[in-house]
Amino acid sequence: MNSLTKSSPKFEFSKSQKNRPFSEILDSIVYLVEKASNGGICSILLANESNESLTVSSAPNLPIEFSQMINGIAICPSVFFNRPVLVSDIHNDSLWDGYKEMATENGIRCCWFAPIGDSQQKLLAVFSIFFDKPCFPTEEDLQLIEMAVRLTDMAIQHYQTEEKISFIASHDELTNLPNRRLFDEKVNNAIRDHTNVKDKMLGVMALDLDRFKLINDTLGHSIGDLLIQNAAQRLKSCLRETDTASRQGGDEFTILVNDVSEYEAAKIAERILEKLSKPYFIKGHEIFTTVSIGISLYPIDGQHSDDLLRKAEVAMYQAKKEGKNNYQFYDAKFDQMTYDRLELEAELRKALEKNEFTLHYQPIINLSTNKISGVEALIRWPHPKLGYVSPNRFIPIAEETGMIVPIGEWVLETACRQLKQMQADGISMVSINISFRQFYEPNLVLIVKQIIKETGINPQNVTIEITESMTMDIETASAIITELKQLGVKISIDDFGTGYSSLSYLKKFPIDYLKIDQSFIRDINKSKYDKNIATTIIMMARNLGVQVIAEGVETIEQLEFLRHHRCNEAQGYLFSKPLSAEQLKRFLENHPSELEKSLLFDNRK
Ligand code: C2E
Ligand code: MG
Ligand code: MG
Repeated sequence: MNSLTKSSPKFEFSKSQKNRPFSEILDSIVYLVEKASNGGICSILLANESNESLTVSSAPNLPIEFSQMINGIAICPSVFFNRPVLVSDIHNDSLWDGYKEMATENGIRCCWFAPIGDSQQKLLAVFSIFFDKPCFPTEEDLQLIEMAVRLTDMAIQHYQTEEKISFIASHDELTNLPNRRLFDEKVNNAIRDHTNVKDKMLGVMALDLDRFKLINDTLGHSIGDLLIQNAAQRLKSCLRETDTASRQGGDEFTILVNDVSEYEAAKIAERILEKLSKPYFIKGHEIFTTVSIGISLYPIDGQHSDDLLRKAEVAMYQAKKEGKNNYQFYDAKFDQMTYDRLELEAELRKALEKNEFTLHYQPIINLSTNKISGVEALIRWPHPKLGYVSPNRFIPIAEETGMIVPIGEWVLETACRQLKQMQADGISMVSINISFRQFYEPNLVLIVKQIIKETGINPQNVTIEITESMTMDIETASAIITELKQLGVKISIDDFGTGYSSLSYLKKFPIDYLKIDQSFIRDINKSKYDKNIATTIIMMARNLGVQVIAEGVETIEQLEFLRHHRCNEAQGYLFSKPLSAEQLKRFLENHPSELEKSLLFDNRK
């Protein structure tokens, strides 16, 4: 009888063996057991991740044809799970039905195999030994099988631990995405393997969730973490197998896309923008967020991973500046702009102390009475050297750096104080813009309340302008709006139509005004699309019992269109540009002649 030798060899993992590749270690176990056996041929099959099938991982002496046949064999729990299965003659065993012929053709007649598992539930591998004649195992054979099982088990455990350690060292704990180190390695490998084919480049993207910090601060870190995990999942689903998404920390991700043209990289970025800006439902909160993406391309923008990543980040900042929720390709001019931005930030820090800000006021006209129904307060920064810096330029910086909080307080306080004086000239309402960050400041309501009290104005005469994007978290936003309303102030949604397309939330907020964004008014007489949007907003607002204000009205034609569709109020250069407090006073003194000049009373039907 073909059996194993009596002297089972000792086999321990030495240090040098531990560092050998896993497959070599499995091979050495197979060779060792084969050597100790009398003509046995061994194999080790590893279970796949889902524990459904087995893959041949070491079978150096098994006939290839036979190896191929058993590769991928399904795991049958009743067969593989408990103890060794010792088939002395496969011709007489039903377990081998369907395999007998192929086994015989390859000189296999007897098979003993033993499962290796970390528990009853999970099979890790199967160790098998085959003979060319029928044979029964002796006591020593059983000991050798046991040793083979133990060694294979040790090798697998060791390998898995190593795998785990190397995974932890190269992946981000929260999202399981590759970390910065692995990402850099992948970029450098991709650069090394890159062949110069026309229009096929490597794209490195830097991606950042817009206003994540605020979500984290207002809804708490555990929700912030879940949002990051969800976003990571969505991000992965936008990419191909060959691409890599990585988390750099916080809400910053990087992406490597292989073999793309500029057009293809743009398409991927568009897909990401779309998928990541769909609402997230987390622990009862419906959260809206968007992302900004910067893209650099190898070889045109840089030669090394560091350089490409930095340029992708510069492009991402540009995307933020362009109003977020968009992507930008790197352009060398952005570097200069970043420098300018830092300079502006330094100037901005000093502006409040130096009392450089002032407020201008733009009249808002009631289209039924043709009277001024109020004014919107708009901040102005006449910088001694830079001249007037546009709020569109400095507000985002103030917002990002947190300076918007004291600046916003100054605006609230100044507008309320000046309203007192303007009331004498017939102005009964001031609209004040507040920024995203200010809106989510925990003490916003308290500050508004204090300012109203200190300036002694009637809260009914103040409108707070917020934008759609501030309502990203419907629950929290409606609580803030409700508290503000309880103070007696009015609420207006500014730049309406430029934010999220979901209008359903409107019903949930107790708002008083909707301001149609000026981008829809600009071409209202030319573009069918803009016409439709504007009229839909007017109709919808009417149904909800909310007043509509059109922004940026510059021509009589626009005004006529709005009147025709019964828009309630309008504001724009046609009536007046934003004016300083003194200019406004003069404007009001000349009223209505100033307004007549703007053809407001030209009530042609
Ligand atoms: P907004 O609140 O939508 O203000 C309307 C903007 O449109 C103002 O720009 C105004 O000057 C401009 N505008 C008014 N009529 C017309 C017109 O007929 N044609 C055109 N082309 N533009 C017109 P401005 O003052 O440059 O402000 C830009 C944005 O900066 C504001 O948009 C607002 O979002 C923000 N902002 C301004 N002041 C403040 C402030 O005190 N606090 C905060 N948080 N944001 C402010
Ligand atoms: Mg506004
Ligand atoms: Mg606006």
